Amino acid sequence: MPEPLDFGGQAPPIDPPTGCARPLVWRLARRLYADHQPGPDGWCLNCRPAILYPCVARQLADLGLAVAMKRTAAGPHVANKGHHW
Ligand SMILES: [Zn+2]
Repeated sequence: MPEPLDFGGQAPPIDPPTGCARPLVWRLARRLYADHQPGPDGWCLNCRPAILYPCVARQLADLGLAVAMKRTAAGPHVANKGHHW
């Protein structure tokens, strides 16, 4: 599983960065990232009442951004364990 990307404390760019292997995954994950930001009290503004932060959606957004940038020699179908959908 890829590690979350480090943007140096900044929000990831809305448009996929140069070299992004899966631009659609980037755009979906970036939208999810934007929708699940912490409020002043540290809890997700979109998932109240919450029990943790990052919330599950934010964790998926971070993972999606990392997967979008990951290149594999075998192609994107490897990420879904061979299932075709
Ligand atoms: Zn959330």
